[in-house]
Amino acid sequence: MTEQSSWMKEALALIGEKIAAMLMESREDFLIPAEKVANVGIRNTLEHALLVLTNAGYTVIPVLDEESRLRGILSIPAIIRAVTGVEAFDFDKLGDITVEEVMTTEFPVLKEDFELEMVLHLLVQHAFICITDEDGVLQGIVTRSELLKGTNRVAHVFESMYDITKKEESPIER
Ligand code: AMP
Repeated sequence: MTEQSSWMKEALALIGEKIAAMLMESREDFLIPAEKVANVGIRNTLEHALLVLTNAGYTVIPVLDEESRLRGILSIPAIIRAVTGVEAFDFDKLGDITVEEVMTTEFPVLKEDFELEMVLHLLVQHAFICITDEDGVLQGIVTRSELLKGTNRVAHVFESMYDITKKEESPIER
């Protein structure tokens, strides 16, 4: 990589300070607080979990332990896989398998002082990002749609708040 292209990469990798500040102003808006986040308990059965997921209308939700610590995420496909036999589904097994046996433990988690940069990066691959405190207690989630609402706002008001002049040499066009 040439020196110039590494400079370009750096310039493009960082979110502009003003844009980041505007987005972070609505941080409280795009963080859905834990009390509004549908979740299942680690010791619940898959039958209960499927009911919670269906009633909440989501395909993936966080899994918590008795102390509200984040332990995993559970998806409907993972539940279905757990009761899929060679030739048929065995839905009777739903009541015998616990959430803990099926949940995913590999997923991104950020602390409350998360960087916007990191959230945006992770949301490309994941539909939501869990935010916890230092003890791992779920504080809330940031979802694609909530962040998109904030981005929408920035896209609408940015030019009415700032005078923008085009640079002679823009890293994006080179
Ligand atoms: P959205 O960007 O609104 O489509 O949300 C992305 C994903 O985040 C959803 O598909 C759910 O898996 C999860 N999610 C959003 N809101 C909630 C909520 N209130 N409780 C639990 N999970 C949620």
